[in-house]
Amino acid sequence: MRRRALLLTLLAAPLLAQAAAPSAPYRLRAGAWEQGSLLIGEATPGSAVTFDGRKLAVSPEGLFVIGLDRDAKSPVQLSVAAPGGKPISESHSVAKRKWDVQPLTGIAPKYVDPPQDVQDRIAAEQTIIAAARSRDTAISDFATPFVWPATGRVSGIFGSQRVLNGKPKSPHYGVDVAVPTGTPIVAPTGGVISLAESDLYFTGGTVFIDHGHGLQSVMVHLSRLDVKVGERVEQGQAIGLSGATGRVTGPHLHWGLYWFGDRVDAQKHTGPMPASR
Ligand SMILES: [Zn+2]
Repeated sequence: MRRRALLLTLLAAPLLAQAAAPSAPYRLRAGAWEQGSLLIGEATPGSAVTFDGRKLAVSPEGLFVIGLDRDAKSPVQLSVAAPGGKPISESHSVAKRKWDVQPLTGIAPKYVDPPQDVQDRIAAEQTIIAAARSRDTAISDFATPFVWPATGRVSGIFGSQRVLNGKPKSPHYGVDVAVPTGTPIVAPTGGVISLAESDLYFTGGTVFIDHGHGLQSVMVHLSRLDVKVGERVEQGQAIGLSGATGRVTGPHLHWGLYWFGDRVDAQKHTGPMPASR
């Protein structure tokens, strides 16, 4: 009797485990559950998807996008309900990545507060930027594999941070490509221009491309802008020329990817830099 009971328990255990935690009905097309990752999910068309309490846009093909910030915390919750079905939730831990953090000591930094007119200007620009970043459009170019907006040496990586005399500076949220002023910068994937400003205080010539569902490319330090807000651009189309505008020491392209307020690693999502274009 005892043996029989044990056998039944062993047989039933996997079934019970499966019933207790069914996996949500979707698959990942791109990305991983780690900091800085951009995830592209594919569910049955018509599904309802919620991530950490945010209802996500789902394309007619069933595609959705999630960005995990550089400093994303564990766990995160993803809930997917197939059409007519109950939501099935998954909890994921977000793998931590090791960032390039450089402690610099013995430096005598000059802490200069910008004058009031500059502070006012920065505040006004932040309002414009925040409005552009809050867009949640039905564009689905996010699902197309990305190309590099410029080719060259990668001179700055996502997530790096300097710590000056024990005081952490703001992390670097983009990838820098060392290109001379005047190099054409192209759209990494299609989208609609959501911001085109030729002279922002920190970032100089700045273009945002809305790739849909909250995902936007940010291209900064441009010397010339060839696009206007509301204009549709295709993958590979030039949006302007690189430069050294804003608060920079030399010409390069800084390219960032925003998913609403989260910053993700554009380099990791795009793959190896081609030798030349
Ligand atoms: Zn940069």
